[in-house]
This record gives sequence, structure tokens and C-alpha cells, in this order.
Amino acid sequence: VIVSESVDVLIIGGGIAGASAAAELRAVGHTGSTLLVTRELEEPYERPPVTKGLLLGTTRREDTRVHPAEWWSENRIELRTRASVLALDPTQRVATLASKETIQFGKAILATGATVRRLQVDGAQLEGIHYLRAPGNAEALRADIAEAQHVTVIGGSYIGCEVAASLAAMGKRCTVLMQEDTPLERGFGPTVGAWVASQLTDRGVEVIGGITVDSFAGDTRVSVVLTNAGYRTETDAVVLGIGALPDVTLARKAGLLIGDTGGILCSRELETSAPGIYAAGDACEYESVLHGTKVRIEHHEHAAAQGRTAARNIAGIPSDHTEVPYFWTDLADWATLEYVGVSPVWDEEQIHGSLDSGNFIVRYSLAGRLVGALACGVPDELDIARAELATAVLS
Ligand SMILES: Cc1cc2nc3c(=O)[nH]c(=O)nc-3n(C[C@H](O)[C@H](O)[C@H](O)COP(=O)(O)OP(=O)(O)OC[C@H]3O[C@@H](n4cnc5c(N)ncnc54)[C@H](O)[C@@H]3O)c2cc1C
Repeated sequence: VIVSESVDVLIIGGGIAGASAAAELRAVGHTGSTLLVTRELEEPYERPPVTKGLLLGTTRREDTRVHPAEWWSENRIELRTRASVLALDPTQRVATLASKETIQFGKAILATGATVRRLQVDGAQLEGIHYLRAPGNAEALRADIAEAQHVTVIGGSYIGCEVAASLAAMGKRCTVLMQEDTPLERGFGPTVGAWVASQLTDRGVEVIGGITVDSFAGDTRVSVVLTNAGYRTETDAVVLGIGALPDVTLARKAGLLIGDTGGILCSRELETSAPGIYAAGDACEYESVLHGTKVRIEHHEHAAAQGRTAARNIAGIPSDHTEVPYFWTDLADWATLEYVGVSPVWDEEQIHGSLDSGNFIVRYSLAGRLVGALACGVPDELDIARAELATAVLS
């Protein structure tokens, strides 16, 4: 192989995980040459505003950048956008780009993220059906529904709830269709689910649970959503938020091990099955000391924290990834829910404060031990729960 370029550290993927890894390398004093390659058309940006400010039109695209434009050269990180890594040889430590250039690296971080899960049903190719992952998707949806009266949102998880809230705030009539009975109940349980449903219905959103979408109908553009329960709704547009799939195409092709959740299998230190190659973010499935098992987590702050852990290990500072997973979700400007936790299952829920007042914390326990907490309007109590989770599990 003729090598076009040689770097100490190669970061593949320009999301929050890759961009945070680059920053941490410099923060801990790593001075080696570093190249970040991403297939995105633009420099690394944050995704959370896609369903919030970018959709509402209150956030400008420039404000979603992870680092200011000049940051990259100031920190001597070479950034290459519109560049896809097509192959990775973990033994020779060579990456091949779509442009056919080859890059020799000392160590690498795979931060390839996730892609939206698409609904494969009749009519799925009709116009007016949207998925949200990148800023351009929010802009396309905004433009497409400028004249729309009624938008149908499919999925009752974070994306679905956030989009429904944003659409309601934009004055659109909106229907949420979901398989679960109440929104967000898979993560937070039916009590919080019922509260989220009331937040939405109080603002005019129609929320219908227990429904699976069967097909879409329309001429060239979607005009009807049909479901298993015989429910049929006329619509001007559809937004789907039915989950994401880890992007492990490159890792799989390189022969790296893939875990049970479909992520790139990593150690406690986020090293993949190939020595010197790390993974971070939505694509990473790691042996979590805190969870006591292998997990893959799809949240902004967690992806950033994993990027930092991978960078520290590369810089020669041995670090297990022990950050307590945290995330937030916004319902327009009505409510921000914040969660910390280490288990998707629990057998007891304790509510402090009142759901009606919008200031509460729900503490989730399993076998008498705190495993998670969801807070709305009480950040101090969330911090207490976070500290409790970190010490209880690691001690
Ligand atoms: C609409 C939306 C709203 C969200 N809101 C929230 C929120 O409110 N709170 C929260 O906690 N989390 C939220 N999340 C989740 C959070 O954004 C993700 O967890 C985070 O973006 C993951 O970062 P990442 O760097 O792992 O992956 P990504 O952001 O997916 O970045 C991966 C990058 O790798 C690139 N890439 C992949 N393969 C290659 C290759 N072979 N060659 C070159 N480049 C490649 C991709 O193009 C992409 O740029 C939201 C997600 C979405 C989609």
C-alpha cells in the first residue's frame, strides 16, 4: 500500500464523540499529529437542536457547531469534511478514504455514530415523510410543512415527543401514534408517561397509544396513515422517530467484534477488539463498570464523555469509562426532563414533589438500590442522585 499521509491519531466521524475526543487529546497535553475525517459536508455540529431550536426556527445553524471554525487550526487538529473512510486495516493501521487516499495511523478512534431506523412499509417512499438526524432534515421539514395543517408523528420516544411539542409550539395540529400506551414510558414508566401525554394533550396534541403503523397512502405525496387497529388518519406530512441503528459498517468490514446490542464491542477503556483502535459514542458498546454489563448508549453528553475517555487512553492515561449516563429531553419551552441512571429496569418508583406542579424527581430503584432518577425543574436533586449513583456502584 502506498501511504498518502501518516498521522499519530486518526479520528473517524465528526459528531460530538469525535469532536470531544479531539479536544480532550489537546486538553491532556497530547501533541501528536491528529486528523479527524468525517463524511459530513460541514464541520462537527450538535444534533439535539434538530428537533428543538432548528425546527422551531429559534436556533441558527452556525450556533450548533461543536467548536468555532478557527478552533481546529488553533489546536492543530486537521479536519477533513466530505471524506468517507471506506476501509480500515487494523493490523497495518491504514485507513482508505473514498478518494482512494490512504492514511497510516498510530492509534484511531471510531466515532461513526448511528443512522435512523427506517420504517419499511407500503408507501414509505411517498413525499412528505420525514426523518430527523441532521440540521438539513429540520430545515427540509420546516419548509415542507409551511402550509401544512396536520402533521402525524410516529413514535412516542424522545424524538417523537420533542417534535410533537415543537410542532404544537409552531401552531400545527399534530397527532402522535405509538406502540406503547403512553409517551416515554419505555424509559421512565407509565406514571411519567401519563404526565408527558397530558403535557402534550394540554397543548392540543392528539396522543394515541397501542398502535402500529401498517402503511402510508397517497398519490405522490403522503395523505393517509393506516394502522393495524384499523385507525386511519388524513395527514399533510409525517415525521418518524422510531429509533437509530449504530453505524458499524466500517468496523464490521475491518473485522472488529460487534456486540449483542449491535455496537462496536469495546473494553472498559473503550478499546475495540483491535489493539490501539478505540470507539466512542452511539456506535460503541462497552463493558460498563457502572452497569455491570455491556451497554450501548445513545445520548449527547455520554457520547462526548466517551470521546474524552478514548482520548485519555490514547494519550497514555489509563481510564475506565465510568461516567454516570446523563441525558435531557425538552418539550418545547414547557419542560426539560433530565435523567441519570445505570439500569433500564427497576422495581420501585418514588416520586418527590408533584407532577402537577412540574417540579419533581422520580427515583427508580432495583432490589432496594437506586438505579436511576428523572428530574424536572429540580436540578439540585438530580445532582444528589447522580453522586449517589456514582458512589453506590463503584464502592
Ligand atoms: C434529532 C436528534 C435529537 C437529539 N436530542 C438529544 C437530546 O436532547 N439529548 C441527548 O442527550 N441526546 C440527544 N440526541 C442523541 C445525540 O445527538 C447522539 O447520541 C449523538 O449525536 C451521538 O454522537 P456520535 O458522535 O456518537 O454520533 P453522530 O453524531 O452520529 O456522528 C457520527 C459521525 O460519523 C460520520 N461517519 C460515519 N461513518 C463514517 C465513515 N466511514 N467515514 C467518515 N465519517 C463517518 C457520520 O457522518 C457522522 O458525522 C439526539 C439525536 C438526534 C438525532
